[in-house]
Amino acid sequence: NFEKVLSMVPEFDAIITRSGTPVTKELIERGKKLKVIGRAGVGVDNIDIDEASRRGILVVNAPTGNTLAATEHTMGMMIAAARLIPFAHKSLKDERRWDRKKFMGVELSGKTLGIIGFGRIGSRVGIRARAFDMKVIAYDPYIKREKAEKLGVELVNALDELLRRSDIITVHTPLTDETRNMITKREIEKMKDGVILLNIARGGIINEEDLREALVEGKVRAAAVDVFTSEPAVDNPLLDAPNIIVTPHIGANTFESQANVAVIIANQVLSA
Ligand code: NAD
Repeated sequence: NFEKVLSMVPEFDAIITRSGTPVTKELIERGKKLKVIGRAGVGVDNIDIDEASRRGILVVNAPTGNTLAATEHTMGMMIAAARLIPFAHKSLKDERRWDRKKFMGVELSGKTLGIIGFGRIGSRVGIRARAFDMKVIAYDPYIKREKAEKLGVELVNALDELLRRSDIITVHTPLTDETRNMITKREIEKMKDGVILLNIARGGIINEEDLREALVEGKVRAAAVDVFTSEPAVDNPLLDAPNIIVTPHIGANTFESQANVAVIIANQVLSA
């Protein structure tokens, strides 16, 4: 289908993409009339920004429209991982087993949540985790201390400290050269035994192979992942790991969020 997109591009002044269709160098080259590229969502990592800049094509996004959808998906994944809900569901519904002993969970209350990246989504996850009586700490070298403190969240200066202290760790940074492989085997070794890890941000922030190994070894008690290094991720090795909860990049998939994002990006493209 990408071929079809390529053949359509030359007649348009503007294109809007979601996360599924990459706006590659090849696609931009074909867009002889192209003036603006809109990304209906936050991450512009599927757009070749260098190529767009070189041609004077504006790239705009709609970073705020799906904040709450991604936040709420994170909370859902956190509780699902803590209480093993998808596994219990599968056991009863698909296997018709009444296995109660197998599904002992941990409580969020009293646990320490470590949030890496305290931006729009990270901070909202923090607010909600506080309502669950969690102790919340965050690592984000680019924000003001007061932003966290006002929300009852402790900002730590070093990633290592967050890794060491957290019972549950969730990443909410963009995918950049700095954040790619931010969590590898080395970082996982510094975490508590039985830590729960969440990635609802971007595939590759947590190294997939290292996470798989840590799940197999039991160092990581459970993980929940919505995003993968390569999508669609139907052959991803993580799918075979134990105690992993996966969703097919549906963090932003709410009716409310899709409407918000559509309106915001249409306005952005028009102003451009
Ligand atoms: P944001 O820009 O508001 O927040 C990102 C935060 O990460 C910023 O505060 C920034 O200072 C921080 N950060 C950057 N580099 C860092 C580093 N090296 N270490 C620690 N912190 C760092 O972005 P957002 O709207 O909160 O989105 C967060 C992530 O969620 C993005 O990757 C976005 O693409 C993703 N997202 C996923 C879905 C989904 O469907 N699963 C939906 C929406 C957003």
